[in-house]
Amino acid sequence: TLKSMFEQTVLKYGSKEGLVDLRLGTRWTYHDWDLEVNRVAHALIASGVEKGDKVSTVLFNTAEFATTLFACAKIGAIFNPVNFRLTEKEIEFILTDAEPKVVLFEQATAKQIEPVAKALPTIEFWSIDTPDLSYASYYYDQIDGVTTEAILTTVEEDDPYAIMYTSGTTGLPKGVLHTHRDMVDQALVMTACLRITAQDRGLTVAPIFHCAELHCAFFPRVMIGASNVLMHHFDAPAMIETVKQEQITTVFAAPTMWNMILQEEFTKEDFSTLRQGLYGGAPMAPSLTTKLHSSIGVQLLQAYGMTEMGPAITALMEDEQLSKAGSAGRALLNHEVRVVRTNEDGPAEPDDICKPGELGEIIVRGPSMMKEYYKRPEATEEALYGGWYHSGDIGSFDEDGYLWVSDRVKDMIISGGENIYSREVEDALFDHPDVLDAAVIGEPDEVWGERVVAFIVKKGDELNEQALDEFCTSGNRLARYKRPRRYEFVQELPRNASGKLQKFKLRDRAKTTSE
Ligand code: AMP
Ligand code: MG
Repeated sequence: TLKSMFEQTVLKYGSKEGLVDLRLGTRWTYHDWDLEVNRVAHALIASGVEKGDKVSTVLFNTAEFATTLFACAKIGAIFNPVNFRLTEKEIEFILTDAEPKVVLFEQATAKQIEPVAKALPTIEFWSIDTPDLSYASYYYDQIDGVTTEAILTTVEEDDPYAIMYTSGTTGLPKGVLHTHRDMVDQALVMTACLRITAQDRGLTVAPIFHCAELHCAFFPRVMIGASNVLMHHFDAPAMIETVKQEQITTVFAAPTMWNMILQEEFTKEDFSTLRQGLYGGAPMAPSLTTKLHSSIGVQLLQAYGMTEMGPAITALMEDEQLSKAGSAGRALLNHEVRVVRTNEDGPAEPDDICKPGELGEIIVRGPSMMKEYYKRPEATEEALYGGWYHSGDIGSFDEDGYLWVSDRVKDMIISGGENIYSREVEDALFDHPDVLDAAVIGEPDEVWGERVVAFIVKKGDELNEQALDEFCTSGNRLARYKRPRRYEFVQELPRNASGKLQKFKLRDRAKTTSE
Protein backbone atom coordinates (compact mmCIF):
# COMPACT_ATOMS: atom_id res chain seq x y z
CA THR A 1 0.00 0.00 0.00
CA LEU A 2 0.95 3.62 -0.27
CA LYS A 3 0.78 3.67 3.52
CA SER A 4 3.41 0.95 3.95
CA MET A 5 5.49 2.42 1.12
CA PHE A 6 5.68 5.73 3.00
CA GLU A 7 6.28 4.03 6.35
CA GLN A 8 9.12 1.94 4.90
CA THR A 9 10.84 5.03 3.54
CA VAL A 10 10.50 6.78 6.92
CA LEU A 11 12.05 3.74 8.62
CA LYS A 12 14.94 3.56 6.19
CA TYR A 13 15.59 7.23 5.43
CA GLY A 14 14.06 9.03 8.43
CA SER A 15 16.88 11.53 8.83
CA LYS A 16 17.16 12.37 5.11
CA GLU A 17 15.62 15.52 3.69
CA GLY A 18 12.18 14.36 2.57
CA LEU A 19 10.15 17.44 1.67
CA VAL A 20 11.11 21.03 0.94
CA ASP A 21 8.36 23.59 0.37
CA LEU A 22 9.89 26.73 -1.13
CA ARG A 23 6.74 28.76 -0.46
CA LEU A 24 6.75 28.04 3.29
CA GLY A 25 10.53 27.83 3.53
CA THR A 26 10.17 24.49 5.32
CA ARG A 27 12.69 21.64 5.09
CA TRP A 28 11.48 18.41 6.61
CA THR A 29 13.32 15.17 7.04
CA TYR A 30 11.22 12.10 6.22
CA HIS A 31 10.79 11.73 9.97
CA ASP A 32 9.47 15.33 10.38
CA TRP A 33 7.18 14.83 7.41
CA ASP A 34 5.85 11.61 8.91
CA LEU A 35 4.94 13.38 12.17
CA GLU A 36 3.04 16.01 10.17
CA VAL A 37 1.27 13.26 8.26
CA ASN A 38 0.18 11.63 11.53
CA ARG A 39 -0.97 14.95 12.92
CA VAL A 40 -3.11 15.69 9.87
CA ALA A 41 -4.45 12.11 9.89
CA HIS A 42 -5.60 12.51 13.51
CA ALA A 43 -7.13 15.90 12.71
CA LEU A 44 -9.08 14.38 9.82
CA ILE A 45 -10.26 11.53 12.04
CA ALA A 46 -11.37 14.10 14.64
CA SER A 47 -13.40 15.80 11.91
CA GLY A 48 -15.24 12.56 11.25
CA VAL A 49 -13.21 11.20 8.33
CA GLU A 50 -13.23 7.39 8.40
CA LYS A 51 -11.75 4.71 6.20
CA GLY A 52 -13.45 4.90 2.78
CA ASP A 53 -14.43 8.57 3.16
CA LYS A 54 -13.16 11.08 0.64
CA VAL A 55 -10.93 14.10 1.18
CA SER A 56 -10.43 16.59 -1.67
CA THR A 57 -7.77 19.19 -2.33
CA VAL A 58 -7.88 22.20 -4.62
CA LEU A 59 -4.23 23.06 -4.10
CA PHE A 60 -1.10 23.98 -5.98
CA ASN A 61 2.21 22.26 -5.16
CA THR A 62 2.24 22.60 -1.40
CA ALA A 63 3.48 20.71 1.65
CA GLU A 64 -0.13 20.59 2.82
CA PHE A 65 -1.06 18.65 -0.33
CA ALA A 66 1.81 16.18 0.08
CA THR A 67 1.01 15.73 3.78
CA THR A 68 -2.75 15.33 3.45
CA LEU A 69 -2.26 12.79 0.69
CA PHE A 70 -0.25 10.47 2.93
CA ALA A 71 -2.54 11.21 5.89
CA CYS A 72 -5.40 9.85 3.75
CA ALA A 73 -3.30 6.84 2.77
CA LYS A 74 -2.64 6.07 6.44
CA ILE A 75 -6.31 6.16 7.48
CA GLY A 76 -7.61 4.52 4.30
CA ALA A 77 -9.46 7.65 3.24
CA ILE A 78 -9.79 8.22 -0.50
CA PHE A 79 -7.79 11.16 -1.79
CA ASN A 80 -9.36 13.37 -4.45
CA PRO A 81 -6.97 15.94 -5.90
CA VAL A 82 -8.87 18.49 -7.96
CA ASN A 83 -7.41 20.61 -10.76
CA PHE A 84 -6.97 24.11 -9.34
CA ARG A 85 -7.61 25.70 -12.73
CA LEU A 86 -11.20 24.49 -13.00
CA THR A 87 -14.09 26.92 -12.77
CA GLU A 88 -16.40 26.99 -9.76
CA LYS A 89 -19.06 25.12 -11.76
CA GLU A 90 -16.63 22.34 -12.65
CA ILE A 91 -15.38 22.09 -9.08
CA GLU A 92 -18.93 21.97 -7.79
CA PHE A 93 -19.70 19.14 -10.23
CA ILE A 94 -16.70 17.13 -9.04
CA LEU A 95 -17.33 17.67 -5.34
CA THR A 96 -21.00 16.78 -5.75
CA ASP A 97 -19.95 13.57 -7.51
CA ALA A 98 -17.10 12.65 -5.15
CA GLU A 99 -18.92 13.65 -1.92
CA PRO A 100 -15.84 14.40 0.20
CA LYS A 101 -16.06 15.08 3.93
CA VAL A 102 -13.28 17.69 3.87
CA VAL A 103 -11.90 19.93 1.10
CA LEU A 104 -8.56 21.75 1.39
CA PHE A 105 -7.94 24.89 -0.61
CA GLU A 106 -5.75 28.00 -0.57
CA GLN A 107 -5.95 31.71 -1.28
CA ALA A 108 -5.09 31.11 -4.92
CA THR A 109 -8.19 28.93 -5.34
CA ALA A 110 -10.49 30.75 -2.89
CA LYS A 111 -12.34 32.63 -5.62
CA GLN A 112 -13.66 29.40 -7.11
CA ILE A 113 -14.14 27.73 -3.72
CA GLU A 114 -16.16 30.35 -1.86
CA PRO A 115 -19.37 29.93 -3.92
CA VAL A 116 -18.94 26.15 -3.90
CA ALA A 117 -18.52 26.10 -0.11
CA LYS A 118 -21.75 28.05 0.19
CA ALA A 119 -23.57 25.74 -2.23
CA LEU A 120 -22.40 22.55 -0.48
CA PRO A 121 -22.89 23.27 3.23
CA THR A 122 -22.50 19.65 4.41
CA ILE A 123 -18.82 19.58 3.34
CA GLU A 124 -16.10 21.02 5.60
CA PHE A 125 -13.72 23.42 3.87
CA TRP A 126 -10.23 24.02 5.25
CA SER A 127 -8.09 26.91 4.09
CA ILE A 128 -4.34 26.27 4.33
CA ASP A 129 -3.29 29.91 4.32
CA THR A 130 -6.13 32.18 5.41
CA PRO A 131 -7.57 32.15 8.94
CA ASP A 132 -10.98 33.61 9.86
CA LEU A 133 -12.89 32.95 6.65
CA SER A 134 -16.64 32.82 7.24
CA TYR A 135 -17.11 29.75 5.05
CA ALA A 136 -14.02 27.73 6.01
CA SER A 137 -11.88 26.64 8.92
CA TYR A 138 -8.15 27.15 9.12
CA TYR A 139 -6.00 24.06 8.50
CA TYR A 140 -3.41 25.12 11.09
CA ASP A 141 -6.13 25.55 13.76
CA GLN A 142 -7.34 22.04 12.93
CA ILE A 143 -3.91 20.46 13.45
CA ASP A 144 -2.74 22.69 16.30
CA GLY A 145 -1.74 20.59 19.34
CA VAL A 146 -2.95 17.36 17.72
CA THR A 147 -1.04 14.16 18.55
CA THR A 148 1.57 12.75 16.16
CA GLU A 149 1.11 9.16 17.32
CA ALA A 150 1.26 6.44 14.67
CA ILE A 151 -1.92 5.54 12.80
CA LEU A 152 -2.93 1.93 13.33
CA THR A 153 -5.70 1.58 10.73
CA THR A 154 -5.34 -1.49 8.51
CA VAL A 155 -5.22 -0.61 4.82
CA GLU A 156 -5.24 -3.36 2.18
CA GLU A 157 -3.58 -3.22 -1.20
CA ASP A 158 -6.90 -3.40 -3.05
CA ASP A 159 -8.45 -0.55 -1.06
CA PRO A 160 -9.10 2.57 -3.10
CA TYR A 161 -6.37 5.16 -2.83
CA ALA A 162 -7.70 8.02 -4.93
CA ILE A 163 -10.33 9.31 -7.31
CA MET A 164 -8.92 11.57 -10.01
CA TYR A 165 -11.17 13.36 -12.43
CA THR A 166 -9.99 13.24 -16.02
CA SER A 167 -9.56 16.52 -17.82
CA GLY A 168 -12.82 15.89 -19.64
CA THR A 169 -11.91 17.36 -23.01
CA THR A 170 -15.21 15.82 -24.09
CA GLY A 171 -18.32 15.51 -21.93
CA LEU A 172 -18.42 15.63 -18.16
CA PRO A 173 -15.36 14.67 -16.13
CA LYS A 174 -15.25 11.11 -14.86
CA GLY A 175 -13.63 10.04 -11.61
CA VAL A 176 -10.86 7.49 -12.16
CA LEU A 177 -10.55 5.21 -9.13
CA HIS A 178 -7.14 3.72 -8.37
CA THR A 179 -6.18 1.32 -5.60
CA HIS A 180 -3.14 1.45 -3.34
CA ARG A 181 -1.61 -1.46 -5.25
CA ASP A 182 -1.93 0.45 -8.54
CA MET A 183 0.24 3.21 -7.14
CA VAL A 184 2.90 0.93 -5.74
CA ASP A 185 3.11 -0.85 -9.10
CA GLN A 186 3.36 2.43 -11.00
CA ALA A 187 6.00 3.76 -8.58
CA LEU A 188 8.04 0.56 -9.01
CA VAL A 189 8.01 0.68 -12.78
CA MET A 190 8.86 4.39 -12.88
CA THR A 191 11.64 3.98 -10.31
CA ALA A 192 13.16 1.38 -12.60
CA CYS A 193 12.59 3.44 -15.74
CA LEU A 194 14.11 6.63 -14.30
CA ARG A 195 16.69 4.77 -12.20
CA ILE A 196 15.85 6.98 -9.22
CA THR A 197 17.96 6.47 -6.10
CA ALA A 198 17.97 7.90 -2.57
CA GLN A 199 20.68 10.30 -3.75
CA ASP A 200 18.33 12.02 -6.20
CA ARG A 201 16.81 15.41 -5.59
CA GLY A 202 13.54 15.82 -7.43
CA LEU A 203 11.75 19.05 -8.30
CA THR A 204 7.96 19.20 -8.41
CA VAL A 205 7.07 22.05 -10.71
CA ALA A 206 4.31 20.54 -12.85
CA PRO A 207 0.92 20.50 -11.09
CA ILE A 208 1.07 17.82 -8.42
CA PHE A 209 -2.67 17.13 -8.62
CA HIS A 210 -2.07 15.55 -12.03
CA CYS A 211 -0.98 11.92 -12.14
CA ALA A 212 1.91 12.64 -14.51
CA GLU A 213 3.74 14.51 -11.75
CA LEU A 214 2.28 12.72 -8.73
CA HIS A 215 2.50 9.11 -9.87
CA CYS A 216 5.37 9.14 -12.37
CA ALA A 217 7.76 11.46 -10.56
CA PHE A 218 6.77 12.17 -6.95
CA PHE A 219 5.81 8.67 -5.70
CA PRO A 220 8.87 6.95 -7.19
CA ARG A 221 11.05 9.48 -5.37
CA VAL A 222 9.23 8.93 -2.09
CA MET A 223 9.39 5.16 -2.55
CA ILE A 224 13.17 5.18 -2.91
CA GLY A 225 13.92 7.87 -0.28
CA ALA A 226 14.97 10.69 -2.63
CA SER A 227 14.42 14.34 -1.66
CA ASN A 228 11.47 16.34 -2.95
CA VAL A 229 11.45 20.07 -3.57
CA LEU A 230 8.09 21.72 -4.22
CA MET A 231 7.70 24.87 -6.29
CA HIS A 232 4.22 26.28 -5.80
CA HIS A 233 3.70 26.64 -9.55
CA PHE A 234 5.64 26.72 -12.78
CA ASP A 235 7.61 29.78 -13.73
CA ALA A 236 10.43 29.27 -16.22
CA PRO A 237 13.11 31.66 -14.85
CA ALA A 238 12.36 30.64 -11.25
CA MET A 239 12.59 27.00 -12.20
CA ILE A 240 16.00 27.42 -13.81
CA GLU A 241 17.19 29.24 -10.68
CA THR A 242 15.75 26.55 -8.39
CA VAL A 243 17.43 23.71 -10.27
CA LYS A 244 20.75 25.42 -9.51
CA GLN A 245 19.98 26.48 -5.92
CA GLU A 246 18.54 23.15 -4.86
CA GLN A 247 20.92 20.98 -6.87
CA ILE A 248 18.05 19.23 -8.56
CA THR A 249 18.88 15.98 -10.34
CA THR A 250 15.50 14.94 -11.77
CA VAL A 251 12.40 16.79 -12.91
CA PHE A 252 9.19 16.20 -14.83
CA ALA A 253 7.75 19.00 -16.97
CA ALA A 254 5.01 19.01 -19.59
CA PRO A 255 6.13 19.72 -23.19
CA THR A 256 4.68 23.24 -23.03
CA MET A 257 6.81 23.97 -19.95
CA TRP A 258 9.97 22.79 -21.71
CA ASN A 259 8.95 25.02 -24.60
CA MET A 260 8.77 28.00 -22.23
CA ILE A 261 12.14 27.13 -20.71
CA LEU A 262 13.61 27.25 -24.21
CA GLN A 263 12.45 30.87 -24.55
CA GLU A 264 14.59 31.87 -21.54
CA GLU A 265 18.25 32.80 -21.41
CA PHE A 266 20.33 30.08 -19.82
CA THR A 267 23.54 28.15 -20.20
CA LYS A 268 24.17 24.42 -19.93
CA GLU A 269 25.96 25.27 -16.69
CA ASP A 270 22.59 26.23 -15.16
CA PHE A 271 21.43 22.64 -15.59
CA SER A 272 24.68 20.97 -14.57
CA THR A 273 23.19 19.11 -11.57
CA LEU A 274 20.18 17.88 -13.55
CA ARG A 275 20.79 14.35 -14.76
CA GLN A 276 17.42 13.83 -16.38
CA GLY A 277 14.33 15.61 -17.60
CA LEU A 278 11.10 13.69 -18.02
CA TYR A 279 8.40 14.97 -20.34
CA GLY A 280 5.02 13.64 -21.42
CA GLY A 281 1.30 13.99 -20.89
CA ALA A 282 0.93 15.60 -24.31
CA PRO A 283 2.76 15.31 -27.61
CA MET A 284 6.08 17.10 -28.05
CA ALA A 285 7.16 18.04 -31.57
CA PRO A 286 10.39 16.28 -32.65
CA SER A 287 12.00 19.64 -33.44
CA LEU A 288 11.41 20.69 -29.84
CA THR A 289 12.96 17.49 -28.51
CA THR A 290 16.05 18.07 -30.63
CA LYS A 291 16.31 21.72 -29.64
CA LEU A 292 15.97 20.84 -25.97
CA HIS A 293 18.49 18.07 -26.24
CA SER A 294 21.16 20.30 -27.70
CA SER A 295 20.51 23.43 -25.65
CA ILE A 296 20.10 22.25 -22.05
CA GLY A 297 22.37 19.23 -22.41
CA VAL A 298 20.28 17.03 -20.15
CA GLN A 299 19.27 13.41 -20.70
CA LEU A 300 15.60 13.39 -21.68
CA LEU A 301 12.96 10.72 -21.29
CA GLN A 302 9.38 10.68 -22.47
CA ALA A 303 6.42 8.90 -20.95
CA TYR A 304 3.08 8.31 -22.63
CA GLY A 305 -0.04 7.34 -20.76
CA MET A 306 -3.34 8.41 -19.32
CA THR A 307 -4.99 8.88 -15.90
CA GLU A 308 -6.91 5.61 -16.32
CA MET A 309 -3.64 3.66 -16.56
CA GLY A 310 -2.01 5.24 -13.57
CA PRO A 311 -0.71 6.81 -16.01
CA ALA A 312 2.56 5.73 -17.71
CA ILE A 313 2.37 2.94 -20.27
CA THR A 314 5.32 3.48 -22.59
CA ALA A 315 8.59 5.35 -22.43
CA LEU A 316 11.09 6.68 -24.93
CA MET A 317 14.45 6.29 -23.22
CA GLU A 318 17.44 8.64 -23.17
CA ASP A 319 19.35 6.92 -25.96
CA GLU A 320 16.29 6.84 -28.26
CA GLN A 321 15.47 10.55 -28.12
CA LEU A 322 17.12 11.54 -31.38
CA SER A 323 16.77 8.39 -33.46
CA LYS A 324 13.07 8.06 -32.58
CA ALA A 325 12.16 11.70 -31.86
CA GLY A 326 8.37 12.04 -31.89
CA SER A 327 7.71 8.42 -30.97
CA ALA A 328 6.19 7.47 -27.60
CA GLY A 329 8.66 4.62 -27.26
CA ARG A 330 7.99 1.08 -26.09
CA ALA A 331 5.90 -0.51 -23.35
CA LEU A 332 7.15 -0.24 -19.78
CA LEU A 333 7.93 -3.39 -17.79
CA ASN A 334 4.77 -5.39 -17.11
CA HIS A 335 2.74 -3.27 -19.51
CA GLU A 336 1.23 -4.23 -22.86
CA VAL A 337 0.24 -2.04 -25.76
CA ARG A 338 -1.65 -2.90 -28.92
CA VAL A 339 -2.89 -0.97 -31.91
CA VAL A 340 -6.20 -2.41 -33.07
CA ARG A 341 -8.71 -1.70 -35.83
CA THR A 342 -11.44 0.68 -34.79
CA ASN A 343 -15.02 -0.44 -34.82
CA GLU A 344 -17.93 1.79 -35.79
CA ASP A 345 -20.51 0.18 -33.50
CA GLY A 346 -18.60 -0.06 -30.25
CA PRO A 347 -15.29 -0.63 -28.53
CA ALA A 348 -12.51 -2.04 -30.73
CA GLU A 349 -11.86 -5.79 -30.53
CA PRO A 350 -8.61 -6.42 -28.63
CA ASP A 351 -7.56 -9.21 -31.00
CA ASP A 352 -8.09 -7.30 -34.25
CA ILE A 353 -4.47 -6.17 -34.31
CA CYS A 354 -3.09 -3.75 -36.92
CA LYS A 355 0.08 -4.45 -38.89
CA PRO A 356 3.15 -2.26 -38.36
CA GLY A 357 2.56 1.11 -39.99
CA GLU A 358 -1.21 0.70 -39.90
CA LEU A 359 -3.08 3.26 -37.82
CA GLY A 360 -5.65 2.16 -35.27
CA GLU A 361 -6.77 2.73 -31.70
CA ILE A 362 -4.19 2.30 -28.97
CA ILE A 363 -5.34 -0.15 -26.29
CA VAL A 364 -3.31 -0.96 -23.21
CA ARG A 365 -3.18 -3.07 -20.08
CA GLY A 366 -0.95 -3.24 -17.06
CA PRO A 367 -0.86 -3.57 -13.28
CA SER A 368 -1.85 0.04 -12.56
CA MET A 369 -5.02 0.05 -14.63
CA MET A 370 -7.89 1.85 -12.90
CA LYS A 371 -10.44 -0.20 -11.02
CA GLU A 372 -13.38 1.79 -12.37
CA TYR A 373 -14.88 5.11 -13.24
CA TYR A 374 -16.44 6.11 -9.94
CA LYS A 375 -20.22 5.57 -10.01
CA ARG A 376 -20.12 4.92 -13.82
CA PRO A 377 -20.40 1.14 -14.37
CA GLU A 378 -21.39 1.48 -18.03
CA ALA A 379 -18.55 3.83 -18.92
CA THR A 380 -16.19 1.47 -17.06
CA GLU A 381 -17.38 -1.55 -18.97
CA GLU A 382 -16.98 0.19 -22.30
CA ALA A 383 -13.55 1.66 -21.54
CA LEU A 384 -12.18 -1.64 -20.18
CA TYR A 385 -13.83 -3.84 -22.83
CA GLY A 386 -12.09 -7.21 -23.13
CA GLY A 387 -9.72 -6.37 -20.26
CA TRP A 388 -7.92 -3.63 -22.22
CA TYR A 389 -8.23 0.10 -21.65
CA HIS A 390 -9.38 1.72 -24.87
CA SER A 391 -7.46 4.98 -24.94
CA GLY A 392 -9.24 6.91 -27.69
CA ASP A 393 -5.79 7.69 -29.11
CA ILE A 394 -4.92 6.86 -32.70
CA GLY A 395 -1.44 5.56 -33.36
CA SER A 396 0.70 2.91 -34.97
CA PHE A 397 3.74 0.74 -34.35
CA ASP A 398 6.74 1.05 -36.61
CA GLU A 399 8.81 -1.92 -37.81
CA ASP A 400 11.09 -1.58 -34.77
CA GLY A 401 8.20 -1.88 -32.32
CA TYR A 402 8.04 1.80 -31.36
CA LEU A 403 4.66 3.39 -30.76
CA TRP A 404 3.69 6.61 -32.53
CA VAL A 405 0.71 8.59 -31.24
CA SER A 406 -1.04 10.51 -34.03
CA ASP A 407 -4.16 12.03 -32.62
CA ARG A 408 -7.16 11.71 -30.36
CA VAL A 409 -9.86 9.76 -32.25
CA LYS A 410 -12.13 12.77 -31.78
CA ASP A 411 -9.58 15.32 -33.08
CA MET A 412 -8.84 13.54 -36.34
CA ILE A 413 -9.70 15.63 -39.39
CA ILE A 414 -11.37 14.11 -42.44
CA SER A 415 -10.93 16.25 -45.54
CA GLY A 416 -12.04 15.07 -48.98
CA GLY A 417 -12.34 11.55 -47.54
CA GLU A 418 -8.69 11.52 -46.41
CA ASN A 419 -7.75 11.23 -42.74
CA ILE A 420 -5.49 13.97 -41.49
CA TYR A 421 -3.86 13.62 -38.09
CA SER A 422 -3.40 16.95 -36.40
CA ARG A 423 -0.14 15.85 -34.78
CA GLU A 424 1.58 15.44 -38.16
CA VAL A 425 0.59 18.94 -39.28
CA GLU A 426 1.54 20.45 -35.91
CA ASP A 427 4.95 18.75 -35.95
CA ALA A 428 5.61 20.16 -39.45
CA LEU A 429 4.66 23.67 -38.34
CA PHE A 430 6.92 23.37 -35.29
CA ASP A 431 9.87 22.86 -37.64
CA HIS A 432 9.63 26.53 -38.63
CA PRO A 433 12.05 28.55 -36.49
CA ASP A 434 9.53 31.38 -35.95
CA VAL A 435 6.74 29.12 -34.73
CA LEU A 436 6.61 29.12 -30.93
CA ASP A 437 3.45 27.08 -30.55
CA ALA A 438 0.98 25.48 -32.94
CA ALA A 439 -2.36 23.71 -32.89
CA VAL A 440 -4.40 22.28 -35.71
CA ILE A 441 -8.12 21.56 -35.88
CA GLY A 442 -10.69 20.78 -38.56
CA GLU A 443 -13.46 23.18 -39.44
CA PRO A 444 -16.50 22.50 -41.61
CA ASP A 445 -15.98 22.96 -45.34
CA GLU A 446 -18.76 22.73 -47.92
CA VAL A 447 -16.61 21.04 -50.54
CA TRP A 448 -14.20 18.92 -48.51
CA GLY A 449 -16.28 18.13 -45.44
CA GLU A 450 -13.57 19.55 -43.22
CA ARG A 451 -10.52 21.69 -43.81
CA VAL A 452 -7.39 22.17 -41.74
CA VAL A 453 -7.04 25.36 -39.70
CA ALA A 454 -3.83 26.18 -37.85
CA PHE A 455 -3.47 28.41 -34.79
CA ILE A 456 0.03 29.80 -34.47
CA VAL A 457 1.95 31.63 -31.78
CA LYS A 458 4.81 33.30 -33.61
CA LYS A 459 8.14 34.78 -32.68
CA GLY A 460 8.51 38.40 -33.86
CA ASP A 461 6.07 39.69 -36.48
CA GLU A 462 7.63 38.65 -39.78
CA LEU A 463 5.84 35.36 -40.19
CA ASN A 464 2.70 35.33 -42.32
CA GLU A 465 0.22 32.92 -43.88
CA GLN A 466 1.94 32.78 -47.25
CA ALA A 467 5.36 31.99 -45.79
CA LEU A 468 3.90 29.17 -43.71
CA ASP A 469 2.03 27.76 -46.67
CA GLU A 470 5.23 27.66 -48.72
CA PHE A 471 7.08 26.14 -45.79
CA CYS A 472 4.52 23.35 -45.35
CA THR A 473 4.51 22.31 -48.98
CA SER A 474 8.24 22.73 -49.68
CA GLY A 475 10.61 19.80 -49.45
CA ASN A 476 7.82 17.22 -49.07
CA ARG A 477 7.20 18.42 -45.56
CA LEU A 478 3.46 17.74 -45.84
CA ALA A 479 1.26 16.32 -48.58
CA ARG A 480 -0.67 19.20 -50.14
CA TYR A 481 -4.06 18.01 -48.92
CA LYS A 482 -2.83 18.09 -45.32
CA ARG A 483 -1.66 21.68 -45.32
CA PRO A 484 -3.63 24.28 -43.38
CA ARG A 485 -6.10 26.24 -45.54
CA ARG A 486 -6.43 28.97 -42.99
CA TYR A 487 -4.14 30.39 -40.32
CA GLU A 488 -4.94 32.33 -37.18
CA PHE A 489 -2.14 34.06 -35.33
CA VAL A 490 -2.78 34.16 -31.59
CA GLN A 491 -0.97 35.34 -28.47
CA GLU A 492 -1.38 32.04 -26.66
CA LEU A 493 -3.03 28.64 -27.13
CA PRO A 494 -5.64 27.35 -24.70
CA ARG A 495 -4.05 24.60 -22.63
CA ASN A 496 -5.15 22.95 -19.42
CA ALA A 497 -3.03 22.86 -16.27
CA SER A 498 -1.14 19.79 -17.44
CA GLY A 499 -0.28 21.37 -20.79
CA LYS A 500 -2.83 19.62 -22.97
CA LEU A 501 -4.34 21.60 -25.81
CA GLN A 502 -8.01 22.36 -25.32
CA LYS A 503 -9.08 21.99 -28.93
CA PHE A 504 -12.75 22.45 -28.14
CA LYS A 505 -11.92 26.06 -27.30
CA LEU A 506 -10.19 26.49 -30.65
CA ARG A 507 -13.20 24.99 -32.45
CA ASP A 508 -15.48 27.49 -30.71
CA ARG A 509 -13.14 30.28 -31.71
CA ALA A 510 -12.89 29.09 -35.32
CA LYS A 511 -16.68 29.11 -35.53
CA THR A 512 -16.84 32.80 -34.66
CA THR A 513 -13.84 33.94 -36.72
CA SER A 514 -14.81 32.13 -39.92
CA GLU A 515 -18.42 33.39 -39.88
P1 AMP B 1 -4.78 12.47 -19.14
O1 AMP B 1 -5.45 11.25 -18.67
O2 AMP B 1 -5.54 13.71 -18.81
O3 AMP B 1 -3.37 12.54 -18.67
O4 AMP B 1 -4.71 12.44 -20.74
C1 AMP B 1 -4.20 11.32 -21.43
C2 AMP B 1 -3.99 11.65 -22.88
O5 AMP B 1 -2.91 12.58 -23.06
C3 AMP B 1 -3.60 10.47 -23.72
O6 AMP B 1 -4.70 9.66 -24.07
C4 AMP B 1 -2.93 11.14 -24.92
O7 AMP B 1 -3.89 11.62 -25.83
C5 AMP B 1 -2.23 12.33 -24.29
N1 AMP B 1 -0.82 12.01 -24.01
C6 AMP B 1 -0.27 11.67 -22.84
N2 AMP B 1 1.07 11.48 -22.94
C7 AMP B 1 1.39 11.68 -24.24
C8 AMP B 1 2.61 11.61 -24.99
N3 AMP B 1 3.78 11.32 -24.43
N4 AMP B 1 2.53 11.86 -26.32
C9 AMP B 1 1.36 12.17 -26.92
N5 AMP B 1 0.18 12.26 -26.26
C10 AMP B 1 0.19 12.02 -24.93
MG1 MG C 1 -3.84 -2.87 -10.18
